[in-house]
Amino acid sequence: MKIAVCGAGAAGSYAVKRLRANLPEAEILLFDAAPVGFYAKMRLPEYLAGTLPREKLILSAPEQMADWGVELHLGEPVTAISPASHTLTTAAGDYTWDILLLAVGARAFVPPVPGLPDSPRVHVLRELPDADALVKLCVPGTDAAVIGGGLLGLEAAFALQKRGLAVSIIEAAPRLLPLQMNEEESTALLANFINAGFKVHTGAAVERFDDASAQLHLRDGTAVPASLVLVSAGIRANLDLAKNAGLACNRGIVVDASLRTSAPDVYAVGDCAELIGVVTGLWLASKDQGEAAADIIAGKIPAMPPKTYRPKPKLPAF
Ligand SMILES: Cc1cc2nc3c(=O)[nH]c(=O)nc-3n(C[C@H](O)[C@H](O)[C@H](O)COP(=O)(O)OP(=O)(O)OC[C@H]3O[C@@H](n4cnc5c(N)ncnc54)[C@H](O)[C@@H]3O)c2cc1C
Repeated sequence: MKIAVCGAGAAGSYAVKRLRANLPEAEILLFDAAPVGFYAKMRLPEYLAGTLPREKLILSAPEQMADWGVELHLGEPVTAISPASHTLTTAAGDYTWDILLLAVGARAFVPPVPGLPDSPRVHVLRELPDADALVKLCVPGTDAAVIGGGLLGLEAAFALQKRGLAVSIIEAAPRLLPLQMNEEESTALLANFINAGFKVHTGAAVERFDDASAQLHLRDGTAVPASLVLVSAGIRANLDLAKNAGLACNRGIVVDASLRTSAPDVYAVGDCAELIGVVTGLWLASKDQGEAAADIIAGKIPAMPPKTYRPKPKLPAF
């Protein structure tokens, strides 16, 4: 059996480790667009803050992944998949597979506000190169604005402040963390942020970003100085490969309770997958799905009983 896994993030890496253990004889190919190996995305804010050295982010460097007993294709993005011919394509050529596991994750969403998507001042924090770029731009005293006061936005705001930047936080909701906190807790949190030196704009809509003057204009007329803008406005699943191959997609690649997509022998897990209408966007859920898919795939071999993934109830929103 030849299994191809696209994506070496949490979902793909944990899937590959479990596949190797489940199926010692299988040929396993692991592709990732990035050359860096498997790293802890969750800890990028600590690296950005300067409190975690870059090397501590790395969970498995490419040399360590070589010991996983799989054929590694790091830095080799998959450009197309064909469920009909059971092939995938990269710049190096075509590869065949019996089973394909899509674990291509998600990307940060930048709202189409005039001036935002095209400005070199505007950044996101999703991948290690994003953090590397931000670290280089962290000159103490620089004005920065973080768009999005969710958990990740607040973590990123702290990180930038720790680097000595003067940080404004722009949140569209009338208060901070409305999903996680009640009104009283939210008010206390806001006071803490203001005391810590942040400028916080709640109930604020960004109207446009003016790159030349480095100002973020809010709908209420406020101009927020921002030589650097960090957008933390949610994620969008990477759907291109699946959509181009005709797989059913909604907010994510639609999978059934066995993590199977609409195409035979193609599975999807992690931030790219939509299970019971939900794209979880969580590390542990991605790991859990990756390992569950590996068990389900191994169950196709007659000696092993088939297993079905059951999502854990009440996963917290991130
Ligand atoms: C800054 C930050 C903080 C976070 N904090 C938390 C937290 O506190 N708690 C929590 O639960 N979650 C947190 N998360 C979310 C968590 O990290 C993700 O849910 C998890 O990493 C998803 O894993 P994944 O493998 O599905 O996707 P990803 O980690 O996105 O991995 C997908 C991989 O696929 C590769 N890929 C994409 N397209 C292709 C292609 N065409 N060909 C080959 N490879 C491709 C990418 O290079 C990438 O390596 C955080 C995320 C970030 C960015």
